[in-house]
Amino acid sequence: MEITIIHMEDDMCHFLIEGVDVAFANALRRTMLTRLPSMAIDEVLILENTSVMYDEMLAHRLGLIPLVTPLDDYNLPEECDCEGKGCSLCQCTLTLEVEAEDEEKMVYSGDLISQDPKVVPASDKIPLVKLAPKQRIIIEAYARLGTGRENAKFQPVATVAYKYVPVVSVDKSKCDGCGACVEACPKNVFRLDDSVISTQNTLECSLCELCVRECEPGAIVIDSKPDSFLFKVESTGALTPAEIVERSLEILRERIRTALDFANSL
Ligand SMILES: [Zn+2]
Repeated sequence: MEITIIHMEDDMCHFLIEGVDVAFANALRRTMLTRLPSMAIDEVLILENTSVMYDEMLAHRLGLIPLVTPLDDYNLPEECDCEGKGCSLCQCTLTLEVEAEDEEKMVYSGDLISQDPKVVPASDKIPLVKLAPKQRIIIEAYARLGTGRENAKFQPVATVAYKYVPVVSVDKSKCDGCGACVEACPKNVFRLDDSVISTQNTLECSLCELCVRECEPGAIVIDSKPDSFLFKVESTGALTPAEIVERSLEILRERIRTALDFANSL
């Protein structure tokens, strides 16, 4: 198996994985979605809420805020020595105390004060509730690690998708150089220079085959490699894209090992 990074940003990663089958690619995608833990607010103590938003709705909105997760610093509650009761090794407390004085005030995720400076909202600009003058909220919230299997709020990825690697070939003997494929392709995969068609950025091809429909039969063939996949991973901000991929591969390797050990023991 070989991985090539095509494009990397703070919250997004585009990479090519070669030498695996579709079952593995999908297992990796599902691991990122459902097995990789991240922090989210799971319990909320509402001490005061005179805003127009119900306590339950406010708690729900707090739960959906992506929190930056230092994975090595916290235990999953079910694996912690406290047996999930909640201790400093598996839980982080955040407080929120905001009052609108004489004017309306929007409460943002950035108003949360965390006990651990490493566990903070991934964005400070997520609106939570708008307070009218004199309204006030005082909240204590408890964040913990969890996985997407339990609740989607624990998913560290916003999007994770893969596609086959496209192979676009032009049969020069059948191509009359009309350029219709250049017009038809929404991804600019074709170029026309002096009545000769050539291909460019073929990784962008979405396999829509609009070019094939516009062209002489057999002149353009769109195929895909069976053992290579292009992945796009978009983080919620809880973990970096590199962490998401590395940790998911570790989790997947561990699960495959467990399955093999079980199979060998039969
Ligand atoms: Zn604990």
